[in-house]
Amino acid sequence: ETRIIAAGATTEDAAVEASIRPKRLDEYLGQVPVREQMNIYIEATKRRGEALDHVLIFGPPGLGKTTLSQVIANELGVNLRQTSGPVIEKAGDLAALLTNLQPHDVLFVDEIHRLSPLVEEVLYPAMEDFQLDIMIGEGPAARSIKIDLPPFTLIGATTRAGLLTAPLRDRFGIVQRLEFYSAEELTKIVQRSAQILGIPCTPDGAAEIARRSRGTPRIANRLLRRVRDFAQVRGDGTITREAAFDSMTMLKVDPEGFDELDRRLLGTIIESFDGGPVGVESLAAALSEERGTLEDVVEPFLIQQGYLIRTARGRMATPKAYRHMGFTPRSKAPD
Ligand code: ADP
Repeated sequence: ETRIIAAGATTEDAAVEASIRPKRLDEYLGQVPVREQMNIYIEATKRRGEALDHVLIFGPPGLGKTTLSQVIANELGVNLRQTSGPVIEKAGDLAALLTNLQPHDVLFVDEIHRLSPLVEEVLYPAMEDFQLDIMIGEGPAARSIKIDLPPFTLIGATTRAGLLTAPLRDRFGIVQRLEFYSAEELTKIVQRSAQILGIPCTPDGAAEIARRSRGTPRIANRLLRRVRDFAQVRGDGTITREAAFDSMTMLKVDPEGFDELDRRLLGTIIESFDGGPVGVESLAAALSEERGTLEDVVEPFLIQQGYLIRTARGRMATPKAYRHMGFTPRSKAPD
């Protein structure tokens, strides 16, 4: 991905994220209801000396699903193993992971909606009864064996809850949905990161970065690093509102945090499809983008901000989108 405001992680992000990723619940900013609930569940679990119930975390990329799972494991004082749906190819891969856990450990499975159906089948009894039921051998010699597992916590992450099969979703006792962060919350996140990274940043400078970060901490942290480059080369190294403003104009991130792809999407709906409704497949074709990218990465923020609506017949640009793109909102003609 080359979008400066892409929500997916880059290798540079991964390196820096290690130092700025919150480790405790009280460093995990925003997401107040999630934090309050998890605080109680974690405390109760520790008092009972049990494994925490399985947790499903869903929300768009970059909102803190991986971070929350690490925070949970830290707060519980247990080990965390991380993997992802597409990586677990065979039932044996899952068995190897599960049999290596210590009691009460956390297994984090990112993109859990991408588990193969066969692996999912093996996961059900593991989650429910801490038992593995696997076939070994082939043909007439094949037999099924049962293995007891230590009690563990599965934390699954996915972009949309609707991507999971119902039986898998039903096996999570705790379901948390992450929301886009407010500008105030993101300002705090930028200030915290700037402090850890030793970047001088005024409150106005932090707020300007926060405002353009699409409600997403990963984007806020990335913009902070890009604006730092700009402030060091063009100014005295301090991130002021002006430095933030100028560098983001250069990066073509507009005041709403929209980039080329957002604007292309809104512009295409308005100009090529008369404002919609247009089906996601037609839209993806017109933009030469993957449907999944539009649904998981681009649209959620535009919808949350009121620029786009999803109807049964497709996507529609709102009057707010028309105005943002410099068009006159079309009159509501009956269709
Ligand atoms: P996801 O797994 O949802 O794609 P991550 O957990 O990797 O997102 O979060 C991306 C980055 O954003 C992390 O490296 C972290 O520094 C930052 N971040 C995420 N959530 C928070 C939060 N609640 N408070 C502060 N920083 C956060």
